Amino acid sequence: MKRILVSGGAGFIGSHLCTRLVKEGNEVICLDNFFTGSKSNIAHLMDNHLFEYVRHDITIPYSAEVDEIYNLACPASPIHYQYDALQTIKTSVLGALNLVELADRIGAKILQASTSEVYGDPMVHPQPESYWGNVNPIGVRSCYDEGKRCAETIFMDYYRQKKVRIKIIRIFNTYGPNMLPNDGRVISNFMVQALKGEDITIYGTGQQTRSFQYVDDLIDGMLLMMATPDDFTGPLNLGNPNEYTILELAQKVIDITSSSSKIIFHPLPMDDPKQRKPDITLAKEKLNWEPRIPLNEGLKSMANYFRNYKY
Ligand code: NAD
Ligand code: UDP
Repeated sequence: MKRILVSGGAGFIGSHLCTRLVKEGNEVICLDNFFTGSKSNIAHLMDNHLFEYVRHDITIPYSAEVDEIYNLACPASPIHYQYDALQTIKTSVLGALNLVELADRIGAKILQASTSEVYGDPMVHPQPESYWGNVNPIGVRSCYDEGKRCAETIFMDYYRQKKVRIKIIRIFNTYGPNMLPNDGRVISNFMVQALKGEDITIYGTGQQTRSFQYVDDLIDGMLLMMATPDDFTGPLNLGNPNEYTILELAQKVIDITSSSSKIIFHPLPMDDPKQRKPDITLAKEKLNWEPRIPLNEGLKSMANYFRNYKY
């Protein structure tokens, strides 16, 4: 049994991680400021003696004696991270600094949830970890992209200079239950629109691509990464390499929900990456991991989740 701190534990991915860690018999402290997280995501854990939550903003230092830290705190949907860009960059940079300093002080292992956004609008396809990316440092997505890049730098410098036991994962587009209906990301938007019979809003032509990973696959990969030997820090891609255009995704959602929704086209947001697909060779080699849940199966589970959601 370990004591584990999960920042952002009431969010979409964090709530799945807390559930899994508690299920495996660990004591979990969930830190969250509830900006995009919700108590309903962790309601099933509230009465469990292994679980506690603390309302806290990671831009302010926090202290606890734990064995491991997962730093997931940060809004991940473009509309939410752009809503208060300054808070996003503070969360990414100061939050990462506060938690890695805590790890250094108490000798804990720490995993940083980084992102495929560190590759920006990639010129290399698919994206291996060795690719340095193509990122606009002054655009509307920069608070998130550059914040996450800086957090990776901070982690690597704590590893080199202070020997902190760090892990960095670069998460590619992930979806699953516990996403909010107003999350703003593409799968939740399309699903909710399709189930309500509203127009499906494609930004741009829909020819841009993404590769979608179901959350259970990601959680498997995260736990495996945390358990790797100390001399393996990453960064390591975790994502599903099956690539779809956004138009193909819209069509799949319509088919799976048997929806009468029409597809409509809105302007493409600034700096929206044209293509994205992870190279997961390193994850296969180091973790013996690859995603198992195909998009059709994951989308059916999302449809069920949003059908039963108490709006
Ligand atoms: P989410 O928005 O559902 O969860 C983020 C959680 O962090 C929320 O509970 C929010 O309230 C909390 N939070 C935000 N700022 C905070 C702060 N300053 N202090 C404390 N808590 C704070 O997003 P998610 O999809 O679950 O993403 C979790 C992590 O994974 C994020 O760091 C994100 O960058 C990373 N990630 C996610 C994806 C994805 O596709 N879901 C892709 C790449 C990276
Ligand atoms: N997108 C879309 N309609 C929506 C929401 C998103 O066409 O209602 C597009 C968006 O422009 C992007 C892709 O879907 O090209 C993925 O968007 P998301 O916000 O989910 O993730 P990210 O852009 O961060 O990969």
